[in-house]
Amino acid sequence: MQTQTYRQLDRDHHLHPFTDFKALAEEGSRIVTHAEGIYIHDSEGHRILDAMAGLWCVNLGYGREELVEAATAQLRELPYYNNFFKSTHPPAVKLAEALCRLAPPHMNRVFFTGSGSEANDTVLRMVRRYWALEGKSDKQWVIARDNAYHGSTVAGLSLGGMAPMHAQGGPTVPKIAHVRQPYWFGEGRDTSPDAFGRECAAALEAKILELGEENVAAFIAEPVQGAGGAIIPPQSYWPAVKEVLARYDILLVVDEVICGFGRLGEWFGSVHYGLEPDLMPIAKGLSSGYLPIGGVLVGDRIAETLIERGGEFFHGFTYSGHPACAAVALKNLELMQAEGIVERVRDDVGPYLAERWATLAGHPLVGEARSLGLIGALELVDPATGERFAKSLGAGTLCRDICFDHGLVMRSVGDTMIISPPLVITRAEIDELVRLAREALDETA
Ligand code: PLP
Repeated sequence: MQTQTYRQLDRDHHLHPFTDFKALAEEGSRIVTHAEGIYIHDSEGHRILDAMAGLWCVNLGYGREELVEAATAQLRELPYYNNFFKSTHPPAVKLAEALCRLAPPHMNRVFFTGSGSEANDTVLRMVRRYWALEGKSDKQWVIARDNAYHGSTVAGLSLGGMAPMHAQGGPTVPKIAHVRQPYWFGEGRDTSPDAFGRECAAALEAKILELGEENVAAFIAEPVQGAGGAIIPPQSYWPAVKEVLARYDILLVVDEVICGFGRLGEWFGSVHYGLEPDLMPIAKGLSSGYLPIGGVLVGDRIAETLIERGGEFFHGFTYSGHPACAAVALKNLELMQAEGIVERVRDDVGPYLAERWATLAGHPLVGEARSLGLIGALELVDPATGERFAKSLGAGTLCRDICFDHGLVMRSVGDTMIISPPLVITRAEIDELVRLAREALDETA
C-alpha cells in the first residue's frame, strides 16, 4: 500500500492516543514501517535514530530475533491461558521467579498486569486493601506529585498530576492528593538544588499533616520523573522523603515503569536512590516493548497481610501474566543479564552520554542539559535572555519537529526536550545523537 493510502485510511478510521485528532487529519501521519537496532524507518525512506526507545520501552533495541523466537515458540506451545483461581503456566511462574530474584531482597511476590496503567490501578487496590486488613481503613489517601504520569486508566490519570488530563474529566478517584514535584530548573532556581529538594519533602510532610497521618496510606512517585520532563531530583530529595514517610508509617510506591530495567544504570531506580519500596509498578522495559506486559512487585510486609488475612483478592485482568508476553519478558531479562546491559549503562554508556550531553549546555538555546544513566533532558531558553520562553511560543514542539527532519526522535514536554534511548546504544551512536540534537538546536534558534 502506498503512503498516501495509509494516510487516508488512518485519517478516516484511526483515533491516535494523546493526539489532537483534527490537527493530525490536517497534517497526516508518519507511517513507521520497520526498524533495526536503535533506528526506525518510515514509508518515505527516512532512517531515524529513535532516541526515545519507542515510548521509553525498547530497551534492547529493535530486531532482536531471540525475542521474536521466544514469542513464536510460546504461541505454538500455549498461546493463551489465564492465571485466575488455581491455574497457571510455566512462563508466568518462571518470570515471577526471575523478577523476584532481580528485585530488592524484601520483594518476593509479583502480580501481573497488561500495562503500566493497570499496574497502578492494582497499586491503588492493594494499598487500600492492605490498610483495611491492618484495621486502619481510614488510611485511604494516596499522595502523588504534580505533573506526574502514572497512566491513562481512570486510576492512573487520578494518581497522575497532569493538568491537561485532569481538565478533561478530572481526577475521578477520590482521596488522591498531589504535592509539588522536585523540578529544580522549573520551580526552584531561587534556591540551591539541595535546599529545594528538602523544601519538596517538607511540602509532602505538610500535606500528610493537613490530611491527618491516620488517613494517609501511601506516597507514589517515580525515581526520576519521565513523562513529566526527565526530572532528576536534587540529591537531598529522596533521603528527606524517606525520613518523612518513615515518621508517619506511610507506604512508599515507586513507579518503575520507566526507570526499571536498567534505565538509571541499576535494575531498578529504587536501587540507585537506596529506596525500599513497599510496591513497585513495572512495565515497558520488562519486555523491551516487544509484547505488552506489566506488573506490581510486592514487598513482604504487604504480601504477608494480603496472603494471610486477605481472602480472595477480587482483582485481575484477562491478560495478567499472558504466556507469550511472559515468555518474551523472561527472554528479555535473560538477554539483559547475559549481555551485562545494566552494568554497561552504569559504567560505560551512561557516563559517556553524560559527558557528551553536557556539551549541549553551551548552546545558546539550552538553559540546562541533565542526564542520569540513559535518560536526559535539555531545557530550552530564550537565547536573548537566558530565561524560559513564554509558553505560547512552542519552541519545544518546533525543535521536536526539526529533530525529526534531521533524523532524530526526541520528545518535547513543553520546552523540555527529552531522550531515553535504547540501552544498547553505542558510544558512536551517542555521538551521532548529540550531533543531530545540536543541528536541530541550531536550526530552532
Ligand atoms: N507509569 C509511568 C511512570 C509511565 O511513564 C507510564 C507510561 O508512560 C505508565 C505508568 C503507564 O504505562 P502504560 O502506558 O503501559 O499503561
